[in-house]
Amino acid sequence: MAVKRNILFVFILMLISVSGITALQFYYSYTNYKVESATFQKEIDEAFAEAVDSAFSKHQQEAVNLFRTWINDTTYIKITSRWDAVNKATVFDLKEMQRAKGNNQVSLSIDTYKKQTDSITAAARSTIINHLVGNVEKDLKKGVVWYFTQGLGDRLDTAYFGRPIPRKVFTEEYKKALGRKFITTQFKILEADKYTSKGEYVTVTIDVGLKHGMGPKLLAQFSNGDAFLLGRLRWVIAGSVMLLIITLGCFLYTARVLLSQQKLNALKDDFISNMTHEIHTPLTSITITAQALKQFNHDKAAQDNYLDIILYQSDKLSLLADEILAGAKLDVDAAITDTIDVNRILSEVAQSHFAESVTLNVEPLSNDIAIRGNKLNLLRALNNLIDNAIKYNTNVNPCVTIGAGTANKKLVITISDNGPGIHDELKEIVFEPFYRIPSGNVHDVKGYGLGLSYVKKVVTAHKGCISIKDNVPTGSCFIITLPL
Ligand code: ADP
Repeated sequence: MAVKRNILFVFILMLISVSGITALQFYYSYTNYKVESATFQKEIDEAFAEAVDSAFSKHQQEAVNLFRTWINDTTYIKITSRWDAVNKATVFDLKEMQRAKGNNQVSLSIDTYKKQTDSITAAARSTIINHLVGNVEKDLKKGVVWYFTQGLGDRLDTAYFGRPIPRKVFTEEYKKALGRKFITTQFKILEADKYTSKGEYVTVTIDVGLKHGMGPKLLAQFSNGDAFLLGRLRWVIAGSVMLLIITLGCFLYTARVLLSQQKLNALKDDFISNMTHEIHTPLTSITITAQALKQFNHDKAAQDNYLDIILYQSDKLSLLADEILAGAKLDVDAAITDTIDVNRILSEVAQSHFAESVTLNVEPLSNDIAIRGNKLNLLRALNNLIDNAIKYNTNVNPCVTIGAGTANKKLVITISDNGPGIHDELKEIVFEPFYRIPSGNVHDVKGYGLGLSYVKKVVTAHKGCISIKDNVPTGSCFIITLPL
């Protein structure tokens, strides 16, 4: 009882720990997913900002390159230099060749050129051009177009503000930025006010107007974000599932071992109590008889009588030992070499029980069939079944029928009785060694729970199978199927 309670306690603890591990694994996977989701959101936002930055840089660079070609074109801009003695600096004059009047020229001196130069040199020219290009670059970054001369300013304004950055450029740059973060899932760039669907990953909105606050506001939308994240987490999830399966498997295996251990213990107790009873009776009888023989002077006839009792009880004990040994240890390797005439073996088995107070019917095969097998073992097995059919029969008119037939190229032998029958849930377990169906008093009918396990071993050794069905109207029917 205490063992049972301990096992139950262990089961409950195991159940709690397995449920706990499962819950923790789920929790861990969920938090992991949440963290990954937040990281993903951060990464797509950062990448979007990077993409917009580099699209702008590209656009600025294009305008700067155009500016450089214009300023290098001597038919468009003429650059001269002179020494300004008052300010002690070289002054560069830029003049638009194609514009006769208006704001068509500019004069400037630069800090990076301190030399006194009266007429322009190649080095001076390249310094002033680089300086101007550098300035344009810096200004464009701030979204400002500096008008050195009217014409240059107009051209730059058109080149920079007049051409919006194509959407395609944003898409390409975003793809590259995402790639640097190993994000490969599909996205769509759209205007913020055109975005309606919810429940998807969406980046921050960025104003991509060349003039601040005036351009379209764009965002990127990911419709497969979750699938992508799950794909990223697949090894973690697969690992968790594997661990869970292993833990559950171990749990089930341990539970099974514990249960069968417990069942075996119960069977062992039952067997020992049966055995003790069975051995005790003849032993007591032998002891008492031997004491009687020793204590009194008996005549020859009485002595013989006592000795007969002792011999009878010793025979009983030795039979008991034989029976237990035969049941517990079956030589399953016993050669299956005999040719057995089925109808003959059935009538042999029946004959050995004719003397008993039971109606015994034999329904033989219509045509004689012989099978290969071990005759001695088969005879013992059939005898066991008939013994059981008789000894457990509580009917006032006990009746046992031994039948044979063929089905699907197999031999089918049935032993049916009109006894108490066997409950459905016990129809498998009765074949286990030492199992006896509990009754009010197990010692009513002699046995050690080894008969049916022996029968099953014999049938299995013959590559057959055995099962139990309910007989009609009462009783049980043991069905042995053997290959032909
Ligand atoms: P035992 O040596 O106790 O007879 P068995 O292995 O032959 O052991 O049988 C196992 C149990 O199956 C028995 O305890 C008995 O309760 C039940 N049993 C076997 N045959 C029959 C039958 N024909 N009718 C009802 N119960 C049976």
